[in-house]
Amino acid sequence: MLSTPVPRWIAGVLGAGTLLLLRWLETRKPLRRLVEPKLRREARNVVVAGVSAIALVLAERPIVMPLAALVERKEWGLLRQFGFPLWLEIGVALVLMDYSFYIWHVLMHRVPLLWRFHLVHHVDLDLDASTALRFHFTEMLASIPWRAGQVLLIGLTPFTFSIWQGVFLVCILFHHSNIELPISWERWLNKLIVTPRMHGIHHSIVERETNSNWSSGLTLWDWLHGTLRLNVPQAEVTVGVPAFQEPKVVTLPRILAMPFEHLPPSWNFPNGSAPEPHGSAAPQSVLLP
Ligand SMILES: [Zn+2]
Repeated sequence: MLSTPVPRWIAGVLGAGTLLLLRWLETRKPLRRLVEPKLRREARNVVVAGVSAIALVLAERPIVMPLAALVERKEWGLLRQFGFPLWLEIGVALVLMDYSFYIWHVLMHRVPLLWRFHLVHHVDLDLDASTALRFHFTEMLASIPWRAGQVLLIGLTPFTFSIWQGVFLVCILFHHSNIELPISWERWLNKLIVTPRMHGIHHSIVERETNSNWSSGLTLWDWLHGTLRLNVPQAEVTVGVPAFQEPKVVTLPRILAMPFEHLPPSWNFPNGSAPEPHGSAAPQSVLLP
């Protein structure tokens, strides 16, 4: 059973169902006011996602899936050293994937070359479920060696890897979505997992705020690393990157070309000034509405 991944159609139905549900909620109860027309942005994000999906099918799948099958056959990796029951193996695999993804996300921001790729995700002027799919294909290609390392070191089988893919997709669709949950629910939920308001702060134009809330599943990693920042009200968050705040610099052709171009310093406006940070410098606080 472990050697067979979860059928692709299940992941497809799960992803599409989650996206449609969140999309419906976004129109009923939006959290942040939109800067650009929603349909135009969504169409742009879907094209970026489509190119990345092709890159994943052509380059990631032929490497990572056979590697996971090999890991299982040869009993490589951490998880293969314990005879865990399946439920525990899946649980531990998800936690370890989540933590290693936290580290990868930090690297995407800290390593200048990787930031060029991840920038395309952050220059979206609004944040909604479609942003969760908007990753430049260069980011997808750069992540293949990291993903292979995760599979090898953690010891993922094709089955556990495909479970992680499904869970990860639902998590990122949810925390990028522009839905206003009741603040009391979200505070409660946020003690465990990354929520829309928490991730909204990561997409702020303020550098200090972007350099926080790097977790994508469990909130725990930001809490442990002291990078959890909750004290910014959503109404004060301007989404994007200061150097790219004009809609004309984030059109589809511009963002597809972005990783290959000469880029201005990200965290200053074109006039050289930097946006004002919100709240106190101490990162941890209570999630604000
Ligand atoms: Zn990021």
